Amino acid sequence: MTSFEDLPIRDDLRGLTPYGAPQQPVRVAINVNENPHPVPEVVARRIIEAIARELPGLNRYPDREFTKLREQLSVYLGRGIGPEQVWAANGSNEIMQQLLQVFGGPGRSVLSFTPSYSMYPLLARGVGSEWIPVSRADGFALTADLVAEALRRERPDITIICTPNNPTGTVTDLDVIAAAYDATDGILIVDEAYAEFLPDGRETALSLLPGRERLVVSRTMSKAFAFAGARVGYFAAHEAVVDAVRLVRLPYHLSAITQAAATAALECSEIMLQQVDAIREQRDRLLVELPRLGYRPWESGANFVLFGDVADPADTFQQLLDRDILVRDVGIPNALRVTAGTRAETSAFLAALAEITDAGKA
Ligand code: PMP
Repeated sequence: MTSFEDLPIRDDLRGLTPYGAPQQPVRVAINVNENPHPVPEVVARRIIEAIARELPGLNRYPDREFTKLREQLSVYLGRGIGPEQVWAANGSNEIMQQLLQVFGGPGRSVLSFTPSYSMYPLLARGVGSEWIPVSRADGFALTADLVAEALRRERPDITIICTPNNPTGTVTDLDVIAAAYDATDGILIVDEAYAEFLPDGRETALSLLPGRERLVVSRTMSKAFAFAGARVGYFAAHEAVVDAVRLVRLPYHLSAITQAAATAALECSEIMLQQVDAIREQRDRLLVELPRLGYRPWESGANFVLFGDVADPADTFQQLLDRDILVRDVGIPNALRVTAGTRAETSAFLAALAEITDAGKA
């Protein structure tokens, strides 16, 4: 039988495995950090109307510059960030891929602080760049010294700091991000996919943009915005970065349907985001309840919690799955990651975990 390894694929792709979070129908899917709440009916209707207006015009290519969507994103971000400083794509994965295509590529390098989002090495290798993982400190924290020292030593073309970090939940202070910027001549991408879940009072890296033309803040509508299925990510940066990305984006990469749906959803951003507080409540509940069951969660500013002291993660994962609950084994020893679900989903997870833990002690 022919496998892809038998085909004349690029040598530097041999031995890699594709991104593969398990996708299976379960009662409680708390494995990929989605928003567990459906798109509210009133917004769904607005989106249907917006898409309906586009349908007769689908014989034509869409607005290549997705002007209306960028205007809405600029309104959503505020802070004087203009539409010319905003760019969107089919998910922040594509945002990241476009940035790596322009600023990375063969002979260049991409550095991040691990453990972090599992797609970074795949995206780096996908564009033929060297991948440089640098370990985080104890407790997964980043300090200005650790970051600056690594960037001065490795001199990467692109640095990615994920905050709140997937899969650890760790929030990185803005002074650390500023120190990273000062320590590199390359592009600094701050992946803020989970920014809307930050605890009150924590600032986002958007406030660092003025005067930093090599800084890019990446965001997504997939998480807090409850729009993962629509595939919309975006970034804010100096408008020169937007100009650079136009060199590699495919023509008309955002369909008229995607543009209409995202614009309509952003026009209702308050309604779309109304479950964020409820999700943060469930995250904080996990942080309180997991230690009561004997597990050690790491502090999280996102909509998920990584917890340690799991004797056999593969076994606990399977026992939860046997109860129709899907969490994530991210490959960190003695740890599992769980997404904050609805109150009922979080209750089901905690009850199942208590049962498994008790049985393990018996
Ligand atoms: N960045 C991080 C840190 C993520 O966790 C994810 C999704 N899990 C993404 C980017 C990509 O999300 P999307 O492509 O849906 O915007």
